[in-house]
Amino acid sequence: MSQEVRSGNAHAQFRVFVPDAVSPSGLAPLLGDPRFHVEMAPRASAEQLARAVDDCDALIVRSTVRVTRELLGRARRLRVIGRAGVGVDNIDVKAATERGIAVLNAPAGNTVSAAELSFALMLAIARKVPAADRSIREGEWARSRFAGMELLGKTLGLVGLGRIGTEVARRGRAFGMRVIAYDPYLAADRAEALGVERASFEDLLAAADFISLHVPLTEATRGLIGEAELGRMRATAFLINTSRGGVVDEPALVRALEAGRIAGAALDVFATEPLATDSPLRAAPNLVLTPHLGASTAEAQESVAIEIAEAVRAALLEGDLSRAVNAPAIGGEALRRLRPLLELARRLGRLGCALAGGPVHAVEIGYAGAAPEPLRPLSASAAEGLLADIVGAEEVNFVNALYLAEARGIRVGWAQLPRRSDYAEYLEVRVDTEGGSTRVCGALLGEGHPRVVRIDDYHVDVVPEGTLVVLRNRDVPGVIGRVGTLLGSLGINIAEYHQARLSAGGEALAAVSVDGILPPDALNALRALPEIFDARQAALG
Ligand code: NAD
Repeated sequence: MSQEVRSGNAHAQFRVFVPDAVSPSGLAPLLGDPRFHVEMAPRASAEQLARAVDDCDALIVRSTVRVTRELLGRARRLRVIGRAGVGVDNIDVKAATERGIAVLNAPAGNTVSAAELSFALMLAIARKVPAADRSIREGEWARSRFAGMELLGKTLGLVGLGRIGTEVARRGRAFGMRVIAYDPYLAADRAEALGVERASFEDLLAAADFISLHVPLTEATRGLIGEAELGRMRATAFLINTSRGGVVDEPALVRALEAGRIAGAALDVFATEPLATDSPLRAAPNLVLTPHLGASTAEAQESVAIEIAEAVRAALLEGDLSRAVNAPAIGGEALRRLRPLLELARRLGRLGCALAGGPVHAVEIGYAGAAPEPLRPLSASAAEGLLADIVGAEEVNFVNALYLAEARGIRVGWAQLPRRSDYAEYLEVRVDTEGGSTRVCGALLGEGHPRVVRIDDYHVDVVPEGTLVVLRNRDVPGVIGRVGTLLGSLGINIAEYHQARLSAGGEALAAVSVDGILPPDALNALRALPEIFDARQAALG
């Protein structure tokens, strides 16, 4: 085997096998510790890999090695798989979860590289660098064809202001740009500290000279930039996407570029990767394409290696799984008994986030019931639900939720409430935002059947399943009929409709359980009904 033994302590407590080319300096947190025996074999054959997996505690891979169900079937003592990078598509996460193996990733290490690529693309399209390069190599000297645009004084519109968006914002400010951002979960003080103005999505589309996308792929961001949004952009504006392929509707972008409806675009990520050789994107005008290079720098590779080596170390030594992308069965019987309550907490967290609809500062979980010491796990579940639409459902789980909440500055508190006479098992989730607080309460009825029993001051009784649409409306006759007719005309089936009011003729709240997810147009159509003040939805699963 072309194997380099880096840490030759055969009596070490933990064996770590690294079958991919991971930078040795990045593995320093493991190599410098005698408790770890690290074997690096970047060119290991499938057979060698299978033999090594049989006898190691941790595997560290990049994207080349495929960790299949079959391979995991050989693992007798494997507890952790570390992915030096973000995507875990090369790992059969389901099979790992079934075997109680934690899959960890390193989401932060490539932030600067991804931000710099976004900037490289912005400059490349503004100054037409790739097209000018192609032209001069073809023997031309076409200076007038490649007149460009300065960044100074222009408006940079960022969609998503998390790790990468923040770094792009800093660079935009350094270039003398006005930076605006649309991020429904962005707190005012954070934006202010960065010198970024918060904007609505509509205003950002209309105002930005450059729109750069930095969102996770979620139900809300899939197809976020489509025909209508491209139509609202300025004809002189550029679009840059280094986030995830599904966020931009590619056929709509091709049409917009061909029709000259926007000035240009740059894409590093695609709905399907690798990009098909016959993809119409390859022939679209004013478009710069790169093959998912966001994290492809020596520095990013090293920093993700350090990040994953530290995560694997903490997982093996301390059982710290806060970087896990899966939630292997942990906690045994006690946690299994809590499962219906945990599931209710997760759904209430998701509902609370959807209804709060703004930057979340804090979430408080209250529990009244018979379970012993449930508060921390219930809070983790509620935080998991709360974060699903903020960081992406596949990024957050029961294990890493409290860590991710803390990393985003969201305080999570919990309290035991006095036992109640109406519900034996009762949960409250309060979500605090700049605009105020939203409270959603649930209970387990009978043999553990979950219900949402309260939304703010309204008593409701709905099963937290599928998609829950919550309407605030005037309590006048005919509303239910109009909502039903509208949803029916859009082909949306109503499973349950629960109307609650505080007093006759005042404001009312409807909790409507529907099949499928409402497209943004359907939500807007509901909001446009004269009796409706607000309409929001939560995909509860
Ligand atoms: P992050 O979780 O730190 O930030 C994402 C931000 O998006 C958050 O602030 C969140 O509040 C915001 N957001 C969530 N839903 C939104 C919505 N509907 N509208 C507007 N904003 C919304 O993530 P990050 O590390 O900054 O990564 C951003 C994206 O870049 C991810 O999709 C990630 O997969 C991708 N990425 C790509 C590369 C590459 O090689 N091109 C490298 C690293 C990361």
